[in-house]
Amino acid sequence: MGGNWKMQITRLGEAERIAENIAAAIENVSSVEVFIAPSFNALNSVGLTITKTKLKLAGQNMHYHEKGAFTGEISVLSLIEAGCEYVILGHSERRRIFGEKDDTINQKVLLAINHGLKPVLCIGETAEERANGRTAEVNQSQLAGSLRNVSAQQLQNVIIAYEPVWAIDNKFLNPNIEIKPATPEQASEAHMIVRDWIRKHYGQESAANIPIIYGGSMKEKNATELLTIEDIDGGLVGGASLSAEAFVPIIRSAEKLAKGEDKFEWDSNTLRFNE
Ligand code: PEP
Repeated sequence: MGGNWKMQITRLGEAERIAENIAAAIENVSSVEVFIAPSFNALNSVGLTITKTKLKLAGQNMHYHEKGAFTGEISVLSLIEAGCEYVILGHSERRRIFGEKDDTINQKVLLAINHGLKPVLCIGETAEERANGRTAEVNQSQLAGSLRNVSAQQLQNVIIAYEPVWAIDNKFLNPNIEIKPATPEQASEAHMIVRDWIRKHYGQESAANIPIIYGGSMKEKNATELLTIEDIDGGLVGGASLSAEAFVPIIRSAEKLAKGEDKFEWDSNTLRFNE
């Protein structure tokens, strides 16, 4: 489970406090790995705040060169020094607002892996692409472009985040549509497309092992029904990761499902829990 804080928490003290609260709340979580991705300026101090806790740290982006004259960018080395274990790459806000393309995302993925940082590679189609029947094609093409020259062994360190752009709670990305989470059917179908692509290009073992997580308006109220889906291995959460109160119940849903504590079944399109 990942919390992507974007540029939402601008005060260091607040970032530290939220991180501390999340870390305290997940002390007994044992089956789910959790990371948060604060703003770059907060990485060092949040990293210090959560050392010796189960909460992990992620960068929201990085440059595709190790270091150099790249104004406004952040190096993989700085992320590692701050204590990051993960880095979110190719987020749709990076792709659609800042024009990032698969070939640079691919260089970043390779650089991160070579430095032992785990990329959380984001892919996803827009509302228009989905309406035009291009969901599979767009996601497959982003996978092919972003994972070029990534070996099966290297893929063991990659997490894929399927994030349909239209489901991301962001008015800049989605100015003209009503933003809503993917339905379980939509999410399930897309995750199957992603896993099938991995199977076709990397084989059955890689397909079975790679975590494919869902992102797009995941909240406490819809987390369980999304996380129950067989091909969904976790979540990347934006808005609902900005406080422990909102994020921790989602993590608890994941933990319960991972431990098989909830007994549930599908009754047509409704998820029903047995007593
Ligand atoms: C995201 O941007 O990665 C995301 C999933 O955001 P939200 O949960 O706010 O839709």
